[in-house]
Amino acid sequence: MQDRPSDAGVGSGATGASPIPVILAEVSPERIRARIERLVSFHTRHTASETRSETRGIGAARRWIEADLRESARLSGGRLQVSTQAFDAEIRMGRGREPLEVEIVNVIGFLPGTIADPKGRTYVVCGHYDSRAGSSRDVESAAPGADDDASGTAVVLELARAMSRHEFEANLVFLCVAGEEQGLLGSKHYAEWAESEGVLIDGMITNDIVGGVVGGNGVRDERTIRCYSEAEGLHSPSRELARTMKAAAGRWVPAANIQLVFRLDRFQRGGDHIPFHRMGVPAVRLTEANEHYGRQHQDVRIEDGVQYGDLVEFVSMEYVALVARVNGATLGELALAPAPPSNIRMRAAVRYDTELSWTPSPSSSVAGYEVVWRDTAAPMWEHVSAVTQETTLTIDGVTADTHFFGVRAVDSAGHRSRAVR
Ligand SMILES: [Zn+2]
Repeated sequence: MQDRPSDAGVGSGATGASPIPVILAEVSPERIRARIERLVSFHTRHTASETRSETRGIGAARRWIEADLRESARLSGGRLQVSTQAFDAEIRMGRGREPLEVEIVNVIGFLPGTIADPKGRTYVVCGHYDSRAGSSRDVESAAPGADDDASGTAVVLELARAMSRHEFEANLVFLCVAGEEQGLLGSKHYAEWAESEGVLIDGMITNDIVGGVVGGNGVRDERTIRCYSEAEGLHSPSRELARTMKAAAGRWVPAANIQLVFRLDRFQRGGDHIPFHRMGVPAVRLTEANEHYGRQHQDVRIEDGVQYGDLVEFVSMEYVALVARVNGATLGELALAPAPPSNIRMRAAVRYDTELSWTPSPSSSVAGYEVVWRDTAAPMWEHVSAVTQETTLTIDGVTADTHFFGVRAVDSAGHRSRAVR
């Protein structure tokens, strides 16, 4: 048993090797640039835009995304499985106008885990490939959407390529959705499908507007990534996922500064993590540190010598690669780690210590457990105490009157599950 800061570097007690450094090294800013430029080349990716052309509109964009995933599937020796999920939706076109009936298509890469259960523990990484111009109903004008959200889509595609050549215990889903700008339609459909099928999603990350390093406020920040997470009551799996991400980034991607934001999303705005969070799935949203509103949801134009529009030239490929590595480290660690323990019980009332016990992780890879605790007002776990095969531990001198506790499972390489309470 030991007590050390919970964000202690990997290797403390770890004996096995991790593929995470290899995955992170494979993430390529050049490939990310090629993908963003390709997505921008379709002129507009409005959800109700052209679908028959091979060079223009959302149909061409989704077929290209599918082809990109199929190339990653080929490189993975067929382990990555590519599919599409199509459904009809009505989108509002404004007062006095008939709603448009459109087909929305999610493009999905599925990497089966060694658990060999397609509905078992699954982690989802998401970006939306639809875009919009100044008016949300304008299906014709240029809507390059380089940052919003070709950047997030490129993150998903790059991770599909980098991760699908490795083996994970849990399933991984690389999800490219449309209809985001019309009310999160693609992500909502996928989340409802997963819930109705009984898919156990243990974590979901959406990447949306993850390419800009200079905000409209003039601030340049090439390291900070905002991570939005909301809590529902005392048990807050989405916020725990955010903590897990910050800790994983601290271990594997020290160049990134994860700014935890304890809100659902930016003020009065939304993203594709919301339908998942609302279902109780741990889900977070990543966004650049400083947005530039002259470049989002704008018609491409020059006004008083100022360039407006969501153009490739305003995206930092190194920053998108940094975001991809943070996703890769978090998803990699969670999917490699044993499943979390369950049924956490505490004996703590009217005592000077806290006794925890739990039902073991079902994973055969489990090498031990870590009990973590923090002051109730602290954002991150502050202390950790480890055991090997035991499923009970008493923390002397620490009371649950003033602390929160969690338990996570660890494998021999030091990959940690989400802490559960
Ligand atoms: Zn967006």
